[in-house]
Amino acid sequence: MEVFEPWRLILAAVLAGFLHFQVLCTSDVAPNYTFMQEATKAPAVAYYDYIIIGGGTAGCPLAATLSQNFRVLLLERGGSPYGNQNITNLATFTNTLTDKSPTSPAQSFVSEDGVVNTRARVLGGGTCLNAGFYTHADPEFVQKAGLDLDLVNRSYRWVEKVMVFEPQLRQWQSAVRDGLLEVGVLPYNGYTFEHIYGTKVGGTIFDKDNHRHTAADLLQYANPSGLTVLLYATVHRILFKTKGQSKTAAHGVIFKDGAGNEHRAYLSKETDKGSMGEIIVSAGALGSPQLLILSGIGPAQHLKSLGIKVLLDQPWVGQGMADNPLNVIVVPSPSPVEISLAQQVGITRLGTYIEAISGIDFVRFFGLTTPTNETTPETTKSALETIERLQNAGMIGEKTIGPVSTGYLKLRNRNPDDNPMVTFNYFKEPEDLQRCINGMKIIEGVIKSKAFSNFRYPNDTVETLLNMTQNLVKNIQPQRSNASTFESLEQYCKDTVVTIWHYHGGCQVGRVVDHQYRVLGVDSLRVIDGSTFIDSPGTNPQATLMMLGRYMGIKMRNERLGRYDLD
Ligand SMILES: Cc1cc2nc3c(=O)[nH]c(=O)nc-3n(C[C@H](O)[C@H](O)[C@H](O)COP(=O)(O)OP(=O)(O)OC[C@H]3O[C@@H](n4cnc5c(N)ncnc54)[C@H](O)[C@@H]3O)c2cc1C
Repeated sequence: MEVFEPWRLILAAVLAGFLHFQVLCTSDVAPNYTFMQEATKAPAVAYYDYIIIGGGTAGCPLAATLSQNFRVLLLERGGSPYGNQNITNLATFTNTLTDKSPTSPAQSFVSEDGVVNTRARVLGGGTCLNAGFYTHADPEFVQKAGLDLDLVNRSYRWVEKVMVFEPQLRQWQSAVRDGLLEVGVLPYNGYTFEHIYGTKVGGTIFDKDNHRHTAADLLQYANPSGLTVLLYATVHRILFKTKGQSKTAAHGVIFKDGAGNEHRAYLSKETDKGSMGEIIVSAGALGSPQLLILSGIGPAQHLKSLGIKVLLDQPWVGQGMADNPLNVIVVPSPSPVEISLAQQVGITRLGTYIEAISGIDFVRFFGLTTPTNETTPETTKSALETIERLQNAGMIGEKTIGPVSTGYLKLRNRNPDDNPMVTFNYFKEPEDLQRCINGMKIIEGVIKSKAFSNFRYPNDTVETLLNMTQNLVKNIQPQRSNASTFESLEQYCKDTVVTIWHYHGGCQVGRVVDHQYRVLGVDSLRVIDGSTFIDSPGTNPQATLMMLGRYMGIKMRNERLGRYDLD
C-alpha cells in the first residue's frame, strides 16, 4: 500500500494551480459575460431601451456605458474573440488577416482601386485584428468635432484603465526610433498618448505577454442585468415609423441569426408620446452606410436601382470614403529582429506619419507562395531568395495624413453579408502624393542612418529594397505601371500603395449626422463609429473610437436623465 505523502499533495496542488493560471492567461477566457449568447437563442420579438448595431470598437464601450441605466441590446454579426488564439497572440497577427473562411473574424475586400483590404466581423471589431497602436486624437480633431475636452480625457482614461499597456521597445524598434531622431523627426517625446510633433512611443493593446486586449474587454464595465449581447446576429434593416410622428423615427431592427432565422427587436414604449430610446448604428465605415442604404436612407437614384423603397433621399450617405495610403519599404536584416507591431510613431510636419513593424510572417502577409515547377529556374531561384530574406525582416511605412482624396461607396446588392463596392481614389489629389513622397524620403533616411546600420545588409542599397518591395505588393490596380524596377518615388507611391486599414467616412459629421451623431432628417437614430470621420484622428484611430463610444454613452445618458456628471 502506498504511504500517504503530504508533500506530493502539496506539489500537485501547486502544479494544478500553476497550470490553471497558465490556461487562463493563455487562452483568454471570456470574463464572466452572462449577458452574451448566440442569436439563435434570442426570442422572435423583444423590446429594449437602446439597440446598438455592431459590437465593434465604438459599439462595445457605448453598450457598456448605456447598460448602467438602461436595457441595451448589442447585435454583432461575428462571434466572440475569446479563445481564438489567432486574435489573442501578437505573433499570429497575419494569420487572422489571411483567414478567408466564411466565419473568419476578418472579412477581406478589394476596393475598386484594386487595393486589398479587410473589415472586422467579430465582437470587439477592428481591435481584434489591428496592430494595437494606441494614441489620442490631434487637438484639431477634438476641436472640429466640437467635443467637450474634459469628457474626452475622462473617456480615454476609462478605456486605458482596462486595456492599454506601455510597450517594451527591443533592438529593432529602438534602431528605428534612433534613426527617426537622426533624420530630424524631433524632439523625442518618450512614452505618451499625446499627439505632438516629433518621435514618440505610444500605448499598445498587447500586454507584457504579447496578448491582445480588445474593445470586447470594455464590456467588463457593463451592468449584466442591463445588457444583452447577441453574436452571429446580422442586422438586415432598420425599421421606421411615420404615423403620428412629426418626423420619421427609427423604432426597431430586423436581424437574422446564424441559422438564418429572422428576429425583430423594438424600442420599448415608455411614454404616451412613444419611446425615448434610440437605435445606434456602429457597424463601421463600410457597414454603417451600407445599413442606412439597405434601410432606405441614401441617394434616391441608387436606392431605386437596387429596388429599395426611399425613406429619405440623402445624397451624402456613402460619400467622403477615404483610406489613408500606406507605403512601405521592407528591410531584410542581418541581425535578429524581434516580433513587433506598431509601438512608436514619427509625427512629422510634412503631412506624413512613420510607423514600423518587424519579425512578422511577411511571406503570408504579402501572400507569397513557394514557386512551382512551372516557373523558370531563374524566377524560382529569385522567389526562393526573397522568401528566405523575409524570414528576418522589418518594414517601415508612411501613412499619408488626411487624406485629401476621397471616394464613395455603393451597394452591389441587397445582401448585408456582401461587401459594398468602395472607391477610395488614392492619390487623386496631388497633395496626397507629395505627402507620400515626403514620407518615403524620411524612411530612406532612417534606413541609411547610422542607428539602423546593424539591421540592413551592407549590399542592400535603398534602391534594391525599393525594387524588392515593389515586387512584393500584389495590388490589382488598373493604373499600375508595368515596371518591375524602381522608376521614381512618385510612381512607387502609386504602384505600391497598400492600406493602413484606417478607412473612414460614408456617414460624415455635418453631412449625414449632426455633431451629436444624430442622423439628419429622421428621429431616434444615430451613427457612432469611424464612418462619421472627415479625417482620421491622430496617427491611429482606435483610441478615439473607443473614447467616442464611452463619450456618447455618457452624453446620451445625461441627456435622457437630466444628469450633468461625467462618470
Ligand atoms: C489590420 C488592421 C490594423 C490596424 N491597426 C491599427 C492600429 O495599430 N491602431 C489603431 O488605432 N487602429 C488600427 N486599425 C484601425 C482600427 O482598428 C479601426 O479603425 C477601428 O477598429 C474601426 O472601428 P469602428 O467602430 O468604426 O468599426 P469596427 O470596429 O469595425 O466595428 C464594426 C462592427 O460592426 C459589425 N457589423 C457590421 N455590419 C453589421 C450588421 N449588419 N449587423 C451586425 N453587426 C454588424 C462588424 O462585425 C464589426 O464588429 C487597424 C485596423 C486593421 C483592420
